[in-house]
Amino acid sequence: MSRDASLTIALSKGRIFDETLPLLAHAGIRPLDDPATSRKLILETNQPRVRLLIIRASDVPTYVQYGAADVGVSGKDVLLEQGGEGLYEPLDLRIARCRLMVAGRPGVAPPSTRRLRIATKYVKSAARHYAAKGEQVELIKLYGSMELAPLVGLADRIVDLVESGNTLKANGLVPLEHIADISSRLVVNKAAWKMKHDTVTVLLDALREAVEQRAKRTPVAVPTGGPGSQ
Ligand code: ATP
Ligand code: MG
Repeated sequence: MSRDASLTIALSKGRIFDETLPLLAHAGIRPLDDPATSRKLILETNQPRVRLLIIRASDVPTYVQYGAADVGVSGKDVLLEQGGEGLYEPLDLRIARCRLMVAGRPGVAPPSTRRLRIATKYVKSAARHYAAKGEQVELIKLYGSMELAPLVGLADRIVDLVESGNTLKANGLVPLEHIADISSRLVVNKAAWKMKHDTVTVLLDALREAVEQRAKRTPVAVPTGGPGSQ
């Protein structure tokens, strides 16, 4: 890391934190606390001028857009939903990979007397998907446990992230349509990109190198999430 500026990095705990950690280590950044056990939302690191903000996944772009964090790690699913204004997205970190898919109960025909009902946390992405197909659907916003909706008649289909397909399968659902491949991206505040260019570039280069080295070690572990991938 260059010493010219402080750097605040936003990321969410859980899978993104766990998978970003080795990439940050390659850039010489190690948090002094573990968010799994610490309740701190600001983690100091071994580098006095670098700190990590631990926030909810869907809030990461907001912190970076407003410049409360200089850079962040955000799932493409979140960026697709939020537009990502005021952000650069210079690097695919190739972590937290999965697919955004339509799923439903197998062999259940779409209703003929009303619009198809889609339950999802990803209302914008679902709307774009069905608009592109020229299908009029009714979207129902949910905040979690989407798999339940088709089982109790709330919706005909869901739009959700699928990794192995095991959660769908456990609930008697099958993937039906692929919408987008998802992975986590490094996002950078546009002002920070200018004002802290050297610091951001050093981080970006180190992360890119870490991503490439890992890709060489573990070639193509792409989740398919499609039928038969369970
Ligand atoms: P919260 O649970 O707090 O509402 P969240 O569900 O978005 O937030 P996570 O489940 O930690 O939080 O997911 C964070 C990010 O990880 C998602 O935005 C997505 O990019 C990715 N992700 C989510 N589920 C999977 C999965 N099954 N496989 C791979 N990546 C996933
Ligand atoms: Mg979750």
